[in-house]
Amino acid sequence: MPTPSTRITTLTGSDGDGWEIFYRARAMKAAGEPVLELTIGEHDIGTAPAILDEMHRAARAGHTGYAAVPGIRPLREAVAARLGAQHGRAYGPDNILIVPGGQAGLFAAHHAACDEGDRALLIDPYYATYPGTIRAVGAVPVAVPALPDAGFQPDLDALAQAAPGARSLLVNSPNNPTGAVYSDASLEGIARIAREADLWVISDEVYDSQVWAGRHRPMASLKGMEGRVLTVGSLSKSHAMTGSRLGWVAGPEEVVAHLVNLATHTTYGVPGYIQEAGLFALSQGPEAEAAVAAPFRRRRQIVMDRIAGHRVLRAAPPEGAMYVMLDVRGTGLSGDGFAARLLEEERVAVMPGESFGRAAAGHVRVALTLPDEAFAQAIDRLVACAERIAAAPGRG
Ligand code: PMP
Repeated sequence: MPTPSTRITTLTGSDGDGWEIFYRARAMKAAGEPVLELTIGEHDIGTAPAILDEMHRAARAGHTGYAAVPGIRPLREAVAARLGAQHGRAYGPDNILIVPGGQAGLFAAHHAACDEGDRALLIDPYYATYPGTIRAVGAVPVAVPALPDAGFQPDLDALAQAAPGARSLLVNSPNNPTGAVYSDASLEGIARIAREADLWVISDEVYDSQVWAGRHRPMASLKGMEGRVLTVGSLSKSHAMTGSRLGWVAGPEEVVAHLVNLATHTTYGVPGYIQEAGLFALSQGPEAEAAVAAPFRRRRQIVMDRIAGHRVLRAAPPEGAMYVMLDVRGTGLSGDGFAARLLEEERVAVMPGESFGRAAAGHVRVALTLPDEAFAQAIDRLVACAERIAAAPGRG
């Protein structure tokens, strides 16, 4: 066999890809074990039947051929209207590229921003695919911390030090995995540093419909950020359409025109019947998004009630997104160690904080993705496991 490219063999780096517990849990489930999974950001509800009906209708109506590569015009217009209202800016369809999911949008945005060997900044803890996405375009990921003691808000001094000479900065608020929503001070600091160092800001806003405290301010709405923000969004989280693979990149027309070229030479667009269904989903308005988000708000409260004043487990209440980051350092274990014990002893799967970089070491990320009763049961087991481990520290 010829040697595969170094780019592909080094894509996930040397630290593993952070998905080991997830795969172990899936293997246990496949072997018939009743594992309660709180790992990935996948809703427990499926896509709404009305959206599926529209997908079916559109397919039967003939939207099964090649669709327009940049996205069908009405969908680009609908996304432009949604973002225009949020950002307080005038967007048109030529500011929008439709892509097969936010992940494809992150790849495309970095492709547009970075050349081979450029330093691309990201904030740690980060969504597990980020470093690999940056490496996939030949750039070099450079992490800047957002520490637990700072409520997982980014360390602006560290960012200002890392920024000179870098090409891009990837920001994600509401944040996966921490649940942080960036404060005005964080956002304005990021904007100032990006302007000073002339960075592209790639703003991953796939959780913009899930805000529990404070408010979401899109990066592109900040003063002086015209022309330097590429906003990535998707219908995965807002409309429980994870499997439909439908998202967008929004940015200056000139960049979007280049991104259309990239799409032509990679994905060749998104299936037309999926785009029609996405258009229908967006036409349902903010109430439909609030209904999809509501269970996460309830379950966030279930966790916070159960660990209020707890002597081993701690968590800052998440301000957004569908996760709670639990501090398990009181057990004496790492996040990896605790997640492994929890899976083995209680058949509950969570993601170790270490899967998301260094700053969330000693934490586990709990996805709020089981029906309330099963979710509460999983949290009870998690709490019991932490108490047992803390009471017998020698066993870790
Ligand atoms: N960004 C973040 C922060 C995410 O959590 C996810 C999915 N979990 C994505 C992007 C990608 O989502 P999708 O490709 O389904 O839009």
